[in-house]
Amino acid sequence: MRVRELYEKLLAFYGPQNWWPAETPFEVVVGAILTQNTAWRNVERAIDNLKREGILDPESILKTPDDVLRELIRPAGFYNQKLQRLKAVCKLIVDYGGLEKLFSLPLDELRSVLLSVKGIGPETADAIILYAANKPTFVVDRYTHRIFIRLGLWEGKYDYEGIKKLVESEIPPDVQTYKEFHALIDEHAKRICRKKPLCNSCPLRDVCPRVGV
Ligand code: SF4
Repeated sequence: MRVRELYEKLLAFYGPQNWWPAETPFEVVVGAILTQNTAWRNVERAIDNLKREGILDPESILKTPDDVLRELIRPAGFYNQKLQRLKAVCKLIVDYGGLEKLFSLPLDELRSVLLSVKGIGPETADAIILYAANKPTFVVDRYTHRIFIRLGLWEGKYDYEGIKKLVESEIPPDVQTYKEFHALIDEHAKRICRKKPLCNSCPLRDVCPRVGV
C-alpha cells in the first residue's frame, strides 16, 4: 500500500471530514494550543468560556489577568502551561500586526516563527499553518505513526519530520487534501484502528499486513 492509496481508501470509507471545527482562524489557533494532550470536547468547553466572556481575540487574551484566564481554560487541562503558550502566541500575533500579517509570511518562515514560541512543537505549528493559515503543510501525530506502522508504510520510532516528508513526497502539496488526510487518519485511529484494533470492521483489512494481530 502507498500513502496515496491510504488517503483514497479512508476518504471513500469515511467521507470528507471538513476539519477544523471553528468559526475563525484565531479560534483554530487557540484550539490547536488547547488540544495538546486532551480530548476535543474539553477544548470546546474552554473555547466556549472564552467566547462567552467576549475575549476570543489576541488583544483581549493578553489583557486578561492570568488567574481569570486560567479558570476559563481550565477544562482543557494543563492550564498553567497552556496559559503561557496561549499568551505567547497572542503576543506573537500582536507583534506582527495581526493574524493576517503573520499568515502572509512564506510557509517555511511562518513555521520557523511559530516553532520559536516556547511550547509550540511541530504538530501544533503545522496544525495552525494548515487549518488556520491555509498553507499546505502536513500534520503528523501519534495516530499517523500507529496506522503507518501497522500498514507497513513506516518502520521504527516516531519521527515527526520523517513521516511528514514521506507523506509530502507521495502527495503533492494541497491544502484541502492535507486537511482531509490528517482528519481521516485521526478518525480511523479513534473509530477502528484503535490501540486494540477492530480489524473486522476495517476498510483496509484486505491490504493490511497487521490485520487481526
Ligand atoms: S486491518 Fe486492523 S491493524 Fe490494519 S489498519 Fe485496519 S484496524 Fe488497523
